[in-house]
Amino acid sequence: MPFQALGLAPALAQAAAELGFTQPTPIQSAAIPAVLQGQDLLATAQTGSGKTAAYALPLLQRLGQGGGHTPRRVRALVVVPTRELAAQAGEVIRSLAQHLPSQPKVAVVFGGVSINPQMMALRGGADVVVATPGRLLDLVEHNALRLSAVELLVLDEADRLLDLGFAEELARVLALLPAQRQNLFFSATFPPDVQTLAGTLLQAPARIDVPALAMEDAVILQQAYRVDTTRRTELLRKLIKTQGWQRVLVFVATQYLADRVATKLHQGDLYATSFHGGLSQGARQQALREFKEKRWDVVVTTDLAARGIDIEQLPVVVNYDLPRSAVDYVHRIGRTGRAGASGLAVSFVTPASEAHWRLIEKRQGLSLPLEVLPGFEPKEEAPPASPGDGGIKGKRPSKKDKLRAAAAAAARQPD
Ligand code: AMP
Repeated sequence: MPFQALGLAPALAQAAAELGFTQPTPIQSAAIPAVLQGQDLLATAQTGSGKTAAYALPLLQRLGQGGGHTPRRVRALVVVPTRELAAQAGEVIRSLAQHLPSQPKVAVVFGGVSINPQMMALRGGADVVVATPGRLLDLVEHNALRLSAVELLVLDEADRLLDLGFAEELARVLALLPAQRQNLFFSATFPPDVQTLAGTLLQAPARIDVPALAMEDAVILQQAYRVDTTRRTELLRKLIKTQGWQRVLVFVATQYLADRVATKLHQGDLYATSFHGGLSQGARQQALREFKEKRWDVVVTTDLAARGIDIEQLPVVVNYDLPRSAVDYVHRIGRTGRAGASGLAVSFVTPASEAHWRLIEKRQGLSLPLEVLPGFEPKEEAPPASPGDGGIKGKRPSKKDKLRAAAAAAARQPD
């Protein structure tokens, strides 16, 4: 079995096979042997690369080599930025552990829900804890767990952790860990703050770069449609109907718009719902579960869902509002065409957002024809260039400023 050839125990290889993992993905082939040897790891990897199993499999094997769990001591700690990712990673780890002769105890903890059941679950200790940083610290303060025996630390989506403002919490968590441990560091991007964090954590790490989702990658077909701001919902409905799209993830700029677009589509004859940070944790988990179970045709969301959420083989992603940055564009379209499946990513370009679209294209080295669906020829005027574009000496707007201004202009447009 190919997974066994990487040095994994038969029980782990069997569990991987049962999840449909017949061949290791490139990150798994590179990471598993290095982690099994006890090396630190620095990996550039996107969600969709198979990174969860890349750390989960060798982590489980290494735990199996050590002693049993001690009360309130954690042996492996996986820190993730979002609740959804915590739940997802926990599920993958449990599935992969199912055939091990001695079952590790896996606890998943995140904020936004009552702390008591999590405290109960941690009674008697846990071998693996998957956690968001804030709740992890709360639990430490409640004396529900101790981090002084952690042998293995995984930071998953380190860039996202810092983006979400978790730097301080992360520093507090790190200070609670023993100096002697193995560290696995995953990040989709490597801006300077992430590099600094990696530098302080890792010792002579094995370095793995799985190429970012390549724009030229044929498995994701990208299209852009020109449309008036006020007619986007109509165009979306039309495309879903005429192209026979099923299970569409639609990105909008605000939570308000997510609810509004979902409601409008639902008033038509589409099963549409919204998914965003303004919903209760229960409602979010339910929406995600039901989408995975294919009960919804359309989920309208904000960038909250752009990273870390694994919905298998999502066929279509629509940028109803353009993302703020080129990097977000990559993350959004990465929700489709996953693990080798083909996908379609469609962007709506309004007269007001065209300049912003050009910047995204330029940053990605893309050049897509702007298509117009007959009957949807745009009539709106492009807004005048913002005052900042005037080229005042010493005040030339940076690319970032321009992206921000264009995104702000796009977000101001009501549908
Ligand atoms: P991840 O990057 O961990 O979020 O994984 C992305 C998707 O790839 C998930 O749906 C996994 O179930 C799937 N996956 C992970 N490893 C493999 C593999 N070796 N073969 C096929 N699918 C995989």
